[in-house]
Amino acid sequence: MTAPRIRVRFAPSPTGELHVGNARTALFNWIFARHCGGAFLVRIEDTDRARTTGAFEANLLDDLKWLGIDWDEGPGMDGPYGPYRQSERIDLYRDCLGRLIAEDRVYPCYCTEGELDAERADLVARRMMPRYMGRCRRLNEAQRRGLADEGRLPVWRFRVDAGAIAFDDLIRGSMAFQGDAIGDFIIVRSNGIPSYNFAVVVDDHFMEISHVIRGEDHLSNTAAQLLLYRALGFSPPVFAHHALLLGKDRAKLSKRHGAVSVREFRRRGILPEVLLNTLALLGSSFGSGREVVSAGEIVEGFALERTGRGGAVFDEEKLLWLNGVYIRRLELAALTDRLIPFILSAGYDERSFGRDRLESIVAAVRDSLPTLADIGGLLEIFSDERYRIDEEAALLLREDDAKAVLSELYGVLDRGGDPGETAAPGVPADAAGISEPFAALMKRISERTGMRGKKLYLPIRAAVTGRLHGTELDRIFALLSPASLRKRVEKALALA
Ligand code: GLU
Repeated sequence: MTAPRIRVRFAPSPTGELHVGNARTALFNWIFARHCGGAFLVRIEDTDRARTTGAFEANLLDDLKWLGIDWDEGPGMDGPYGPYRQSERIDLYRDCLGRLIAEDRVYPCYCTEGELDAERADLVARRMMPRYMGRCRRLNEAQRRGLADEGRLPVWRFRVDAGAIAFDDLIRGSMAFQGDAIGDFIIVRSNGIPSYNFAVVVDDHFMEISHVIRGEDHLSNTAAQLLLYRALGFSPPVFAHHALLLGKDRAKLSKRHGAVSVREFRRRGILPEVLLNTLALLGSSFGSGREVVSAGEIVEGFALERTGRGGAVFDEEKLLWLNGVYIRRLELAALTDRLIPFILSAGYDERSFGRDRLESIVAAVRDSLPTLADIGGLLEIFSDERYRIDEEAALLLREDDAKAVLSELYGVLDRGGDPGETAAPGVPADAAGISEPFAALMKRISERTGMRGKKLYLPIRAAVTGRLHGTELDRIFALLSPASLRKRVEKALALA
């Protein structure tokens, strides 16, 4: 007998931005499929019409692509198991509901929201598990008609019998739930729209999903879903519930912990390979403890059982650190290309720098780039229009010692080369590098003013960059024209 084909799915609800926790679920499914040579599909769970939007769906798919996750079937990739949007599969759910009605596995429930709220409150007050207690379970035809005549629209509820529901989870081992703790749950709402638990079972069955890999917050849903598999005569897939992403306080990762959507990290200039690497390896033990691992290596070494049973703590600082590591490892030209969208969105025309100069600037600042978006602030140093002196620097520049150093520097610059040249006067960017001539220049100023160390460098840094911290001064000097160096020193000297 041949083993059934591996088919897994990511089934997002497009009701918001893609949360990193959900992206991690998508990743596990995708990696698992790629590792086993199976199929990975994306199914859009858009039955919540009020909260679903086309824009969320488009962003979500775009974010998956950005992360490098491709799908074999799904939106834009029609396959034999489509359609891949639940809103386009309503007839299928209706057919399955018909079967359950015919077999008396479901019943119409006419309870109003108010009645259900009261029941819930009563159970909570009696310290019992809130669930539907089956008021409409045994209504006869006449009673049903009476309630319908009052204008009540029924939902369809599944009859849950007492007894254990057990299954083996690939990550968590044996699991068991009690039927009477679940209560008769809704499978189709009064507007004919299926509930999540119902639609997901019908879809996973007809799409021949072999493994359902999702967060452990779905464990109790799995118990309800297994009852539906049984009632419909479908054989269930293998389940694997992975641990959730947690914040540093070990609570489920949410907005109050900071950025949580893929889009936010993307906007801030986190590299997709860094997010992928972090999400896949966090809390898992198949990465052999290494920090920098490529998607190919992750796919190769992946083991679902080793994705970790404890929650995985998402540490933004570590993500930023790793991003910096990856940025420093990129080829200069590739890094420059990836920075261009961020340069544009910071309001610069990247062509105004010229490609060679831009690459030299990137080479000079790449060590100070935890994220790609940080390029915006760093470019200010290299743009005469954006150059400004911050308060800290201005304070220092007002001191007499600082003025003495700058007057000396100004003298040297004034005697120097043509304005408009790319290298600073007396500081040629020769093949031996710029440090030597820069050091000579500093030495000269030091000798004439008697200033050394910070007393010498800080005023120069403050005047030339407008700030007290940042990239090495020699590299900045080599990237500014004599004219712009002169203008900056003039401005600094003019501070009263
Ligand atoms: N639409 C569900 C969610 O986003 C899918 C859960 C599942 O994988 O079954 O949570």
